[in-house]
Amino acid sequence: MVTGMVRTLIAGNWKMNGLKSSLSEVEKIVSALDSHPDNADCLICPPATLVVPMQDRAGARLNVGAQSCHPEAFGAFTGDLSAEQLKDAGASYVIVGHSERRSEHGERSAYVQEQAHACLRAGITPIVCVGESYAQKQRGETKDTVVRILRKSLPTLGSNDTLVVAYEPLWAIGTGLVPSAEEIAEVHLTIRNLLVELYQDRGADLRILYGGSMKPGNAAEILAIDNVNGGLIGGASLKADDLMAIYAAAVA
Ligand code: PEP
Repeated sequence: MVTGMVRTLIAGNWKMNGLKSSLSEVEKIVSALDSHPDNADCLICPPATLVVPMQDRAGARLNVGAQSCHPEAFGAFTGDLSAEQLKDAGASYVIVGHSERRSEHGERSAYVQEQAHACLRAGITPIVCVGESYAQKQRGETKDTVVRILRKSLPTLGSNDTLVVAYEPLWAIGTGLVPSAEEIAEVHLTIRNLLVELYQDRGADLRILYGGSMKPGNAAEILAIDNVNGGLIGGASLKADDLMAIYAAAVA
């Protein structure tokens, strides 16, 4: 299914990188956005410490997000942040279910679904991540794995809610490896069909991002693939020039 009408989202995941001094990159991004057509969305998800100062500098065209949230709105959860707090700080998206959270923090799909529901409760768009391991790919289990994880991780959508899915093969994150265009197309079509099954017509317009070693050099090819509605970018989002080169490919 070719969607066509979906607005591309170029999303940076800064992970545990960035100090106040990194805000100079944001200033470069904000001014560079003005020299590009406004036909794709740009988002950075910095560490939580930078959400407020980044939002203060973001202007109208840069969205600011966060990288995780607790399912509860408030309470005795030392060290955690709720979706409501992130919204209050200026976040409009939250990444949930990133493979690094799933593996380093034992966050399982049922928990990811609770986090996604928390985002919706707070008026934030969740970016629900999913991907297969290299072993699963080798066994030919990519599509089954992605569908199985998403069925458990995706939230129920209320009438004003929306969400984003990010397909991130685990073996492609931070490795320089990228699936072939055919492989990406096949998985994104599988995800699209699942979204339509779960959310009917609305599923046709939900954004499906590709993530995993997206760079200025491969962005145009990846973004041209059917049902790829943007990218979730780790390493290459830390430098304004690289992120803007990817954004330029999205708006070309
Ligand atoms: C990520 O961790 O979400 C990611 C896509 O990282 P990288 O672009 O560095 O592979």
